[in-house]
Amino acid sequence: MKGNKCLTAEQIQELKKILEERRREVLEDIKRGLEETAHAEREVGDIVDMSTDEILRTFEMRIRDREAKYLKKIEKALRKIEEGTYGICEKCGACIKYERLKLRPVAELCIKCKLEQEKLERKFGEEQ
Ligand SMILES: [Zn+2]
Repeated sequence: MKGNKCLTAEQIQELKKILEERRREVLEDIKRGLEETAHAEREVGDIVDMSTDEILRTFEMRIRDREAKYLKKIEKALRKIEEGTYGICEKCGACIKYERLKLRPVAELCIKCKLEQEKLERKFGEEQ
């Protein structure tokens, strides 16, 4: 693991622990979701008409998509820890505060850039 200009080795260890814990939780959630889906499909079989089935699938896809995205962020954060770039704002290069990372260990932006981004999102919608 490379040195980090924003965080001490102890802080990195603490955040890594949190990230690995979150990863374990998300993976368990996804697994549980998949098991429930498999179970539900056996239960309902052919009775479910296409439209309801489609709605269910769409709904579940969205949940998994959200979890998958979060998981990707966790993996990325762990990779950045190894590379020594964790805790550095991706937009302006400033250090993200340790307190902020403890609350949101997958944070990619410092609070200033995050607020700016949220302002843009409110103005132009989620796509920005
Ligand atoms: Zn920034």
